[in-house]
Amino acid sequence: MIETRRPAFIDGKPKQLLIDGQHVDALSGKRFQSFSASTGELVAELALAGAEDVDRAVRAARAAFEGPWSRFKPAERQAVLLRLADLVDAEFQDLALLDVIEMGRPITAAMGLRGMLQRSLRHFAGAATAIHGETLSNSFPVDLLSYTLKEPVGVVGAIIPWNGPLFSAAWKVAPVLATGCTIVLKPAEDASLSPLRFAELCLEAGVPPGVVNVVTGAGETGAALSAHPDVDKIAFTGSCETGQRIIAASAGSVKKVTMELGGKSPNIIFADADLDAATPAAAMGVFNNSGQVCAAGTRLFVERPVYEEMVQRIAAFAANLKIGPSLDPETVIGPLVSARQFARVSSYLDLGPREGARLVTGGHRVTGGALDKGHWVAPTIFADVTDEMRIAREEIFGPVSCILPFDSLDEVIGRANATRFGLAGGVWTRDIGKAMTAVKRIRAGSIWVNHYFAMDPSVPFGGYKMSGYGREGGAEHIDAYLQTKGVWIRT
Ligand code: NAD
Repeated sequence: MIETRRPAFIDGKPKQLLIDGQHVDALSGKRFQSFSASTGELVAELALAGAEDVDRAVRAARAAFEGPWSRFKPAERQAVLLRLADLVDAEFQDLALLDVIEMGRPITAAMGLRGMLQRSLRHFAGAATAIHGETLSNSFPVDLLSYTLKEPVGVVGAIIPWNGPLFSAAWKVAPVLATGCTIVLKPAEDASLSPLRFAELCLEAGVPPGVVNVVTGAGETGAALSAHPDVDKIAFTGSCETGQRIIAASAGSVKKVTMELGGKSPNIIFADADLDAATPAAAMGVFNNSGQVCAAGTRLFVERPVYEEMVQRIAAFAANLKIGPSLDPETVIGPLVSARQFARVSSYLDLGPREGARLVTGGHRVTGGALDKGHWVAPTIFADVTDEMRIAREEIFGPVSCILPFDSLDEVIGRANATRFGLAGGVWTRDIGKAMTAVKRIRAGSIWVNHYFAMDPSVPFGGYKMSGYGREGGAEHIDAYLQTKGVWIRT
């Protein structure tokens, strides 16, 4: 299948690092391989960047930051971003296919991201000319004018996961271009191709060499970037455990750090909700991208009077989802990204029944024909889950929904908040009072009412508690790439 839809970027040649506008091998000459999640076929060999390559990339980013890029006016950075948006749109199908082939996102879902990607790039283009400081009153005894200047933070090291590579790359690179920073981007080892091609398109759009650099590799490459003394900020998206390592590594040079980490988000369905609307949303709130979504509503709380009805409704919906290869337009449930991820998800499939959960549907690997070459897991529903079970506490990052009954508003909010995470949450009810109470009291960075998963570049997204700090989307996204300078002038 891969042969029939191969984008031009998958050309059989080894993929090199992108440093200072040049394609270069790793200084060590080392490479690693990336395989298609659906077919197991080799997709590409890629340069494995070591600490010395990271250092080259950081030096290029520093030189560009202090050199040609610093002379770009905001309107020129805006023009670059708008050209990039056009180029990305013209090549969108191929870019999306890189993710479909490499990490296994189903093609119909991948193609659906086009609008959001365009909105994002154009949003950041607009932001480029809207950066401003403030004039401030002061009570200093001598007459002084005080105001603030907003300045780019400098060289950004960005480290991203594999579950949404194109989108993650865009949300790291676009604010860099809007603010006048420069970047060294480290994609995940299972999904480097769309970020690499996206960076090439930046050059084609007129971004000077050295502004956007890409170093491919695994955790060691990311570790070298997060410890590099000349990186001013780390923007990380990934697991909580890796985030903690990066915070520790970046402490040596007191970098600014933003962290978009994992979650175990509650999705709460009250008995008075529109159950017809809640059913598909609650299911796809977990099964989208085979559950490999940070904000997935994996703890599904259902009010007792409609509990068993909803368990059955969601199970019936899940059992009908089309499982298949990522290139099949009918596919809703694609493969997990890798054997490693499959091993992780499988361990929770085994654990659920041992902890006393009731397996309602799924719970197994799906094989046969084309599915023998990758790792598919049937959409899985565990009912009668209790708060103490590990399947209810730990991020599984697979198509596994835990359904828990509840009896009252106060009780469910307490239980929804009884987690170390706080990334997102959902509430389903026709009672505005209940909805507003839940919105206010759930400790998470995004709450959806009678919806799940809406995202937009204008609206902040990010974590409370151990789901991270900093926001992507909204004004804070841009602000995270800026420094504020206080200025005093004797008048
Ligand atoms: P991961 O933490 O294993 O890897 C993320 C990135 O960090 C990869 O590029 C990896 O190579 C790199 N890395 C690994 N070890 C490193 C180290 N010691 N130092 C520096 N970099 C290192 O996460 P993953 O498995 O790729 O992605 C899944 C996780 O990402 C889930 O926990 C998910 O919830 C989270 N996620 C969060 C968001 C969000 O916006 N909050 C979005 C997507 C994914």
